[in-house]
Amino acid sequence: MPTSRSKAARTAPPPDPGDAFTLTVLGCDGSWPGPGGAGSGYLVRIGETALVLDAGPGTFATLQTLMDPADVDAVVITHHHHDHWTDLFAMHAQAQFGARARRAPLPVYAPPLVAELAGPKQTLQFEWHEITHGTRAGVGEASCAFHRTDHEEETLAVRVDGAGRALGYSADSGPGWSVEDLGFGLDLLLCEATDTSEHEGTANHLSARQAGAAAKAAGARRLVLTHRWPTVDAGAVAAEAESAFGGPVEQATIGREFHL
Ligand SMILES: [Zn+2]
Repeated sequence: MPTSRSKAARTAPPPDPGDAFTLTVLGCDGSWPGPGGAGSGYLVRIGETALVLDAGPGTFATLQTLMDPADVDAVVITHHHHDHWTDLFAMHAQAQFGARARRAPLPVYAPPLVAELAGPKQTLQFEWHEITHGTRAGVGEASCAFHRTDHEEETLAVRVDGAGRALGYSADSGPGWSVEDLGFGLDLLLCEATDTSEHEGTANHLSARQAGAAAKAAGARRLVLTHRWPTVDAGAVAAEAESAFGGPVEQATIGREFHL
């Protein structure tokens, strides 16, 4: 006798091709969370695979509104700056004491400095995987490729391929790195646009103008801006990114879902 679950699976409509690869914003503020905001964090779902890219402060709260954290297949941390990873502590505590225990430790892919900063206690619920420039990793239906950017210590941009789609995530970078390193054919580029062009050179980040130009050079089909400092005007960032990209751009906001 089939179970009710298998009956439901057999009668479910075929998945919409647009749902095969989704990106949902968990947090997108640059360097510090603004009022009601959160650091960098994104949920990538490809078929049955759930991958979290970065776990900045405040992002785990939103993740739990979208899915049971016990079903996350892996977390990728791009670099050691606090706005990209400190909710690993919350994830660790929930995995240890939450209502539903994980079947196995949660794989965390990160440059070595992140594990060092997290400390030895954060190994109980995590299975650490060291990544560096050139690392490739498969997580369920997702294939990840990492590329070092122009940022402090080791910061890794990532390209995620799956379900015939490709996502690029710049992580943080100065202008000395090219998005083209992620390869061509990106359906969506999630790119930091921390400030406007008048402040270029004052911090090791991309301006919105530089993000637009980088996306255009890489031939990305869509550009989603993220990591804007909370004090920077969203309209100004969008206007100069669109001018450099040569077309409309989109902005990350908490809870927004993009279908690749
Ligand atoms: Zn950052």
